[in-house]
Amino acid sequence: MRVVLKPGKDKLLRRGYPWVFANQIHRIEGRPQTGDVVEIAAADGTVYGLGFYHERSQIAVRFLTPDPEATIDAAFFRRRLERALALRKAAFGDSTHYRLVFSESDGLPGTIIDRYGEVLTWTCLCYGMEQRRDLILDLLEELLHPRAIVERNDNSLREKDGLPQQRGILRGRYDGPVEIVEDGVRFRVDVLEGLKTGFFLDQRLHRPVVARLARDRRVLDVFSADGGFGLMAAARGAAHVHLLDISEPAMQRARENARLNDLDLSRLTFDVANALDRLGELVAQGATYDLIVLDPPAFAKSKRHLDDARRAYQRINISALRLLPPGGLLATASCSQALDEDEFLKIIHYSARRAGCGLRLLYRGTQPPDHPVLEAMPETHYLKFFLFQKMADEVPPVRQ
Ligand code: SAH
Repeated sequence: MRVVLKPGKDKLLRRGYPWVFANQIHRIEGRPQTGDVVEIAAADGTVYGLGFYHERSQIAVRFLTPDPEATIDAAFFRRRLERALALRKAAFGDSTHYRLVFSESDGLPGTIIDRYGEVLTWTCLCYGMEQRRDLILDLLEELLHPRAIVERNDNSLREKDGLPQQRGILRGRYDGPVEIVEDGVRFRVDVLEGLKTGFFLDQRLHRPVVARLARDRRVLDVFSADGGFGLMAAARGAAHVHLLDISEPAMQRARENARLNDLDLSRLTFDVANALDRLGELVAQGATYDLIVLDPPAFAKSKRHLDDARRAYQRINISALRLLPPGGLLATASCSQALDEDEFLKIIHYSARRAGCGLRLLYRGTQPPDHPVLEAMPETHYLKFFLFQKMADEVPPVRQ
């Protein structure tokens, strides 16, 4: 079975991009069903390799391998999983919590597998992979002997591939949160009830960067979730940490994590509120902090939402800058894939002019090595992270 592209429509594939869109297809040979493996060929007959076919999705074929003779079986997936595991082991040593599989970047289309020690999570946005789920889960059991594998498929993107949203226990026994340790700080991760798969693994390299600077500082951790940044800052000797999140259960978990680490609760504030409102209130009250973390959810879920997203990013960044004295630190992130790094920096620049200050960049970050960015696929790059210092009188003044 074979998918033949229209003349000139193999440009993306030639650049190493792993998706074929439905409108690039000229004809289909044989009668592939959704989920079947098909050969991908250019109009002139050049074969690019094999991929998973989907009859109705915009993403008609997801690339698997350049070898047209390959068999997409257990041995194939085992090699991919072993390779993924080897990278994480090399990157994180003894630590056993990480994103084990990051979809296309690990050659397993649309598939996300997180590991929290003995518990794994399964999220799958690709029909062909979901069809082979049991095969993959068997391999995961063979390779890692997990106590439980939990499905976190409560993701609306599943519908694009005609897959239902669901979550639950797929294998083994899951009887409540798993504990992980990041830079000496303990966190309880609820893979079934928590946000996403229970923890925001992608900020792991940034939390210590922020925490190291937190000593004796008054910290505001906005969009704190279970306390990732804020509690690490508290553990590193922050004078006070104000955690702010809209989710009551997340704040509850942050409180439990604080207790788990024997942190001094009198130096912590747990604030359940809408950050967009609360930041404005804090500015109006004349509050000040020395270090502010802004780690919002993806405001731009797609290009269509970019304008609203831009305004939301501006609003929180302007407020945060107004809450800092000169010399204060702003760690600001965006996980909106649709908003690229240049755009995000423009928003920050605009926010600084509006807040009447200059900024200097102390650190810039992106995804850690367990969320590799496929160079030829911009969709795999989503996380932007910047640590700025608000300047005093070292730069020209803002004239409005
Ligand atoms: N900083 C966290 C991850 C944050 S994820 C960490 O290091 O682990 C984004 C968080 O934003 C979620 O916890 C979500 O509950 C929260 N959130 C979403 N919209 C919000 C809003 N309007 N106001 C405050 N929090 C919000």
